[in-house]
Amino acid sequence: MTEAQVYDVVVVGSGGGAMTGAFLAQRAGLSTVVVEKTPLVGGTSAYSGGACWLPGSQVQQRAGISDSTDGARSYLAAVLDGPDQERVEAFLAHSPELVAELEEAGIPFEWLPFSEYYDAPGRVAMGRSIQPVSIKRGDLTPEVAELVRPPVERDRVGEGGRNTLSGGQALIARLLEGFVGAGGTVLTDLPMTGLVVDADRVSGVAAMTPEGPVEIHARRGVLVAAGGFEGNAEERAAHGVPGDVAWTMAPRGTNTGEPIAAGVAIGAAADYSGVGWFCPGLEQPDGGGSFTLGFRSGLMVDANGARYANEALPYDRFGRIMAEAPERIPSWFVFDSREGGRLPAIAMPEGDPAEHLAVGTWVQADTISDLAERIGVPADALSATVERFNGFCASGVDEDFGRGQDEYDSFFTGGASPTPCDQAPFYAARFVLSDLGTKGGLVTDTAGRVLREDGSTIPGLYASSNSAASVFGPRYPGPGAPLGSAMVFASLAVRDMLA
Ligand SMILES: Cc1cc2nc3c(=O)[nH]c(=O)nc-3n(C[C@H](O)[C@H](O)[C@H](O)COP(=O)(O)OP(=O)(O)OC[C@H]3O[C@@H](n4cnc5c(N)ncnc54)[C@H](O)[C@@H]3O)c2cc1C
Repeated sequence: MTEAQVYDVVVVGSGGGAMTGAFLAQRAGLSTVVVEKTPLVGGTSAYSGGACWLPGSQVQQRAGISDSTDGARSYLAAVLDGPDQERVEAFLAHSPELVAELEEAGIPFEWLPFSEYYDAPGRVAMGRSIQPVSIKRGDLTPEVAELVRPPVERDRVGEGGRNTLSGGQALIARLLEGFVGAGGTVLTDLPMTGLVVDADRVSGVAAMTPEGPVEIHARRGVLVAAGGFEGNAEERAAHGVPGDVAWTMAPRGTNTGEPIAAGVAIGAAADYSGVGWFCPGLEQPDGGGSFTLGFRSGLMVDANGARYANEALPYDRFGRIMAEAPERIPSWFVFDSREGGRLPAIAMPEGDPAEHLAVGTWVQADTISDLAERIGVPADALSATVERFNGFCASGVDEDFGRGQDEYDSFFTGGASPTPCDQAPFYAARFVLSDLGTKGGLVTDTAGRVLREDGSTIPGLYASSNSAASVFGPRYPGPGAPLGSAMVFASLAVRDMLA
């Protein structure tokens, strides 16, 4: 590709927000191209569980969940910290409309019972998240099936099913199928490097092919929805994002933030205060971190052998507490052999326990004191911590951190209170601070239009997903907040382009 190409809409990136925008734009009759840096479509969104936090939808109503936009408004009012209320209102108003539009366009969803992340007014029991209905690989056109990024376990360690696409894979596959079927164009292996500006209006993107630079022009607008800068060490440091590029969950070689930088380079305002979507990360033998949630037993300790939080907290909340003190990274998750030497949690991917033990990301010992010695934490302190924790398990009350008291805590244990750590041999698994992406980026308005510092819009430029500063700021209200907000603002951007 050497000549400039012209479309109505250029979408940069191919995650859930990007593909929602691309699908809706193409379906509305706008010629649309998706510009994707890697050979595969879907990014971190394809790794995801596909939960979409889209309150007040017809999918919830079908499932008999009592909820309303008003309930979600109360919940966000209690959970968010100084939000841009106009954007919050736009999110709330458009969520049900978007779900209706997608379902009408042939993308079916179902309710996903998954507890919300804060015990706050307006919380709905078992949540207000929905997910796309799974799809069989054989029901996709072969070119689409080949383009969708595999699940994280397969992408990183070569494990996992291939025949049914569920969660984030189903989301990407269904949107991609619809997009391609409607005549949309996907250009892979094409990193966007900058924005083309024509008389104060963004009129396209610059991108790099193996043969050299190209320009792709957009008559209506450019939607930047290409992840955050989680894979860029310098940018992380510059904006105070804790963690490490090795520990992020974004696919390797994807989200390094140049689309955000391109916006800033032409005068866009950026807001980095949302920081990131965090989680405890099980350290892998190759130095990576694995998104881990749903601890069923065991306890997390710092370098001093002390607990510092309720291990069953929603992962972003736990991750933020982990980031508060240097002795918490790395932490050690101490567990017993009640699950046969497997981690009593969901880690994506978990990795092979034998390999973990061989390289020392996990250690095993017959007593807690020996375990402490092997991981280099004070034995007296760790023994006292485990004894105290076991006492809480016996009494049913975690007097230090309240583990087991919230609906979310017991979601993964089937309602049971924390179980003691008392069955030898004992294990300790090293944990780092991982993330599901950064959430600081371009400042946008209620229609996803990118703003300058003075609040004026940059004509022709839109942003959503982790390329835009999150509508939720530093909070993660519930399962599916990243994808839900990404999809809503991408859709609103397309509406604005159509207006
Ligand atoms: C295991 C796991 C489970 C999760 N589950 C959920 C869930 O259930 N619900 C939820 O809401 N969130 C979930 N998340 C978080 C969520 O997946 C991400 O935060 C979100 O998908 C990020 O979307 P995005 O579009 O910003 O980035 P991505 O989905 O990563 O997509 C960005 C794309 O842009 C491309 N790109 C980057 N730079 C360029 C460039 N210069 N030019 C062209 N293309 C570029 C990348 O290659 C990539 O394909 C989960 C995350 C993980 C890892």
